[in-house]
Amino acid sequence: MSLEDVWRRKSDRALEKAAKELTQYNEATETVIRAELHRRGMPMPLPFLRIAYDLAVADQGTADYIQDQVLAIHQSPCPRCNQPGPVDIHTSHWIWSIVFMTQWRSQPQLSCRSCGRAEQAKAIFLSGLIGWWGFPWGLLITPVQIIKNISGMIDGPKDTEPSKELYLFFYKRLQ
Ligand SMILES: [Zn+2]
Repeated sequence: MSLEDVWRRKSDRALEKAAKELTQYNEATETVIRAELHRRGMPMPLPFLRIAYDLAVADQGTADYIQDQVLAIHQSPCPRCNQPGPVDIHTSHWIWSIVFMTQWRSQPQLSCRSCGRAEQAKAIFLSGLIGWWGFPWGLLITPVQIIKNISGMIDGPKDTEPSKELYLFFYKRLQ
C-alpha cells in the first residue's frame, strides 16, 4: 500500500489532526497529507505553523490565536490612510551615498497596497537621486534597490491571504 493510500483511508478527523501536527512529519509525508487535504476540500495548514514550530511554540492554542489575529489585521483598515483593507507588509528599499560611504536598507511597512506603492515610488525617486554617488556600492546596489521596489509594486503580497511576512510581523510583536 502506498503512502497515498494510507492517508486516503484515514478519517477526516484523523487528517485534521495530522494537519495540525504537520511539522512532526517528514517532507514526503507532509506533501501527501497536503494533497489529501486538498482532495477532500479541507482547510490547508498555514505557513505560520512552520514558523511557530521553528520558534518552539507548537501548541495549537497559540497557533489558532495567531491565525485569528493575523486574519483580523489583514482585513482591518489601513493604519496610514484609514481606507478599507486588506493590509499587509509592503517593503520599500532605500539607498544613499556620499563618495565612499553608502548605506542601504529595506523598510517593511504595515499598510494597504496603495500606501505601500506610494512608499516604494518615493524610494525609487529618492534612491534614484542620492543612491548613485558612492563607489563602488552606490553604483552596484542602487539598481538592485530600484528593481526590488519595482518588483514590490508589481507583485507584492496577495490580497486574498496574509503573507508569511505579516505572520512574522505579528509573531515578532508577541515576543
Ligand atoms: Zn493606505
